[in-house]
Amino acid sequence: MSTPVLSVDDLRTQFPTDRGVVRAVDGVSLSIEPGEIVGLVGESGSGKSVLAESVLGIVEEPGEIAGGDIRFDGESLLEMTDEQRQSIRGGRMSMIFQDPMNSLNPTLTVGEQIAETVRLHQDTGESVTLSAELKRKIVGAAKNGEAWRRAIEMLESVQIPEPEARADDFPHQFSGGMRQRAMIAMALACEPDLVIADEPTTALDVTIQAQILEELEDLKDEFDTAILLITHDLAVVAETCDRVNVMYAGEIVERAETRELFSSPEHPYTQGLIASTPQLENPDATLEPIEGNVPDLIDIEYACHFAPRCPEAERECFERAPEFRSVGDDHEAACLRRGPAGDRL
Ligand code: SF4
Repeated sequence: MSTPVLSVDDLRTQFPTDRGVVRAVDGVSLSIEPGEIVGLVGESGSGKSVLAESVLGIVEEPGEIAGGDIRFDGESLLEMTDEQRQSIRGGRMSMIFQDPMNSLNPTLTVGEQIAETVRLHQDTGESVTLSAELKRKIVGAAKNGEAWRRAIEMLESVQIPEPEARADDFPHQFSGGMRQRAMIAMALACEPDLVIADEPTTALDVTIQAQILEELEDLKDEFDTAILLITHDLAVVAETCDRVNVMYAGEIVERAETRELFSSPEHPYTQGLIASTPQLENPDATLEPIEGNVPDLIDIEYACHFAPRCPEAERECFERAPEFRSVGDDHEAACLRRGPAGDRL
């Protein structure tokens, strides 16, 4: 078996507060193979974005990684220096966020931003010093270099019309969908081994969302990039992912191949999520929201974090933490009431 591009092992990321320690990521393990799209799904407040920030090394202080390991192409990111991590970020590992306006630089043209990423992370022979950067800002982009060519190529691959002309536009001259495409172009410009996409299509309308997800899949096939797709939207996962991890209150509670997860969800939380999501093939079906909210992640006192909201909870669920059990083919769930073949216990 190949080395996973990303392997997260028993990761714990915490935030000390006046009221106690927020355990935003509480013993999470997952892995992604080259060329795979792996989903991380759960309601907001479940810890998904903190997991992404932990992998990217951008957890905001006073947050800290309190335990576990994160390995990228077999090497521990936690043992690397800041410099080593920085050189990986944006090059071999890149990210796509929900709001491209926060990630794109409003003072640089879209083409120049993509070209700049390429110059920083690939040897194009073009200078990346501060004065070279300033000069490009003042006199405009260097349009005869390798990096600029690559920027145009990438804008073309994400279906930006007239890429050579549009490369000269600033981010505010792009529509929301085009900005997101430009972000994807920038994230993939250096052919990264891993892209972390955090709610990449949430702000977009359904048609553009579908187009962008399709493009992400095509680009993944073209570059054999692994993608960690973080979303609260099960429909996005069902459309795009090879495998899915369901996260609840800082923990992964179920993982399986996408088809298996949707045809035989086992964990009561996953079942609740699916029952509360509109189904394309049956839009009139009654939706049943999961009652209650994701708990405050400070010192949760009950062993199974889902117990207060779980329709199947018993006294034991509050006292004994469930461990992962196999409940089917490559399918695991952390629930005391699920047995080896998905049997109800
Ligand atoms: S362990 Fe108990 S409370 Fe937790 S999901 Fe299973 S049945 Fe529900």
